Amino acid sequence: MTDFAPPLDDISFVLRRIVQVERLASFDAFADGGLDSLGDVLSEAGRFATEVVAPTNRTGDLEGCTLVDGEVHTPTGFAKAWGQYVAAGWAAAPFAPEYGGGGLPWVVATAIFEMMTAANTAWALCPMLTHGSIHLLQEHGDEGQQATWLPRLVSGEWTGTMNLTEPQAGSDVGAVTTKAVRQPDGTYRISGQKIFITWGDHDMAGNIVHLTLARTPDAAPGTRGISCFIVPKLLLDEHGAPARPNAVTCVSLEHKMGIHGSPTCVMAFDEAEGYLIGEEQAGMRYMFTMMNNARLSVGVEGVGLGERAFQQALGFAQERHQGRAGGSKQSVAIVRHPDVRRMLLTMRSLTEAARAICYETAVATDGAEHHPDTDVARRAQERADLLTPVAKAWSTDVGNEVAHLGIQVHGGYGFVEETGAAQHARDARITTIYEGTNGIQAIDLATRKLGIRDGAALEDLCREIDDVADQLDTAGFSVCSSALAAAVGQVRTTAAWLRDHAADDVLAGATPFLRLMGHTVGAWLMGRALLALDGEDPAFAEGKRASASFFLTQLLPRAGGLVPSITAGADALATVI
Ligand SMILES: Cc1cc2nc3c(=O)[nH]c(=O)nc-3n(C[C@H](O)[C@H](O)[C@H](O)COP(=O)(O)OP(=O)(O)OC[C@H]3O[C@@H](n4cnc5c(N)ncnc54)[C@H](O)[C@@H]3O)c2cc1C
Repeated sequence: MTDFAPPLDDISFVLRRIVQVERLASFDAFADGGLDSLGDVLSEAGRFATEVVAPTNRTGDLEGCTLVDGEVHTPTGFAKAWGQYVAAGWAAAPFAPEYGGGGLPWVVATAIFEMMTAANTAWALCPMLTHGSIHLLQEHGDEGQQATWLPRLVSGEWTGTMNLTEPQAGSDVGAVTTKAVRQPDGTYRISGQKIFITWGDHDMAGNIVHLTLARTPDAAPGTRGISCFIVPKLLLDEHGAPARPNAVTCVSLEHKMGIHGSPTCVMAFDEAEGYLIGEEQAGMRYMFTMMNNARLSVGVEGVGLGERAFQQALGFAQERHQGRAGGSKQSVAIVRHPDVRRMLLTMRSLTEAARAICYETAVATDGAEHHPDTDVARRAQERADLLTPVAKAWSTDVGNEVAHLGIQVHGGYGFVEETGAAQHARDARITTIYEGTNGIQAIDLATRKLGIRDGAALEDLCREIDDVADQLDTAGFSVCSSALAAAVGQVRTTAAWLRDHAADDVLAGATPFLRLMGHTVGAWLMGRALLALDGEDPAFAEGKRASASFFLTQLLPRAGGLVPSITAGADALATVI
């Protein structure tokens, strides 16, 4: 199997030239945030991902996790890699220095996470869920909870989980029935069963902090009545050290299509001790802090898997000889065949567009949280809100498309397991499902996000896209410019159609609309790349020009074909069988 090489040139280009990460250095929060030495930070993270994490990827897939006497054991090498990750400070890198964090902007953490998840998606889910738990506690925990739980979650000594799903409560989180009963001492007793809990138990850390949704006895029905609790695996003694087991256990592990190295646990809560976060019945709002963060990270999983699949397919195509080309007498490497080149360029440009979308979303969250001007911060939050469903759903669709193209490039060697190409596709498959299925993301975009500031947040974005289309025209990229102008026109007209139609028609058009948005936003950012290549390394610039032009001229137009599906209305779907 081809080794993974961190794509530092494109990551660094997108950070510097597309999302202009250096702007963040003027925010107080990032004054000491390592932006001066960004290149070193990225290359060290890339080295760690390649040398420490990537070698565990295949082992994790082959061995999977095991449950023995109620304890989950992770595959060979996972715990060692986690220990090194924690010791090197990567777990803490993006968090506030007051809790022992390194203070890096979220967009840089996103780039680091991309490399870790490309190296081993199953392993990287553990830090991903922990990041989400930290965000939730930072935003909504009280001072005592923050002091107790955050330093050791930030350091990576302990890890976090997200306990929402129950057998009857998947997309419909409001159907959660896990019970929480208040005790005289102010703690709660939590009882019920959660399923599909990622990293719900394992042997890599000293404690596990389960952020758990449950319902108090007189709670309102649906999402309005849900509360959020901290339920530790091990209860703490008076010094804050893990002392004795809580009544929360992993009772079985799922056998899955992919991410075998990530334990997906059925968790039983049997009057487990839990601590309320914030107020009763406000838990769904708190959990959204975690979910928004996790949604972007799942989008980044699509990017990481796409990058890894592309690198592997390219390596294979350069070595595998079949057929003749250009009058050669000998068989040539398949990379010489135009149809194979089309697959490779599609893989590369989709992955790069998804990377740019995810980083643009991440930098908006940095602006929302830290920009000193509250109006600018509010606009940044709107941009993050608008782009998050696109970053999640479009990038994971891309991860799947790219991983499947990777199998196609390998021919039969992709379908058999030993090349590893199939693992990327199996691992990618879950990314369109968890953290809110892509269908749910599309509904969120069409029913809520399009309406932000009465549609003005979308219009602000469209104007920026118009501007790039104009600049592309002036710079001589007229075909790219026309394609981008056509796509943003389609976004405007279909968004207006969605705003004017009945709820069922909007729900029916939501997924094709999200795909149109993903292609258009990706093309906007690839267009900005085309305009920013002056002064870059010539070899990099040549490759990026090819990839960005290909995206704008050959992939973007396919989005126009979605317009009839967006505007067909619900009646067109009336008969399924
Ligand atoms: C490997 C793995 C790891 C996971 N990790 C976690 C975790 O750590 N914590 C956690 O809490 N959960 C976790 N989950 C659960 C995951 O978030 C859910 O599987 C997901 O939310 C979908 O719920 P469901 O599986 O019940 O599917 P369903 O909700 O039954 O959906 C089935 C289909 O119906 C569609 N659908 C459902 N409702 C609607 C609607 N209103 N409108 C339109 N379409 C709809 C969906 O898009 C989907 O296509 C994990 C799942 C897996 C498989």
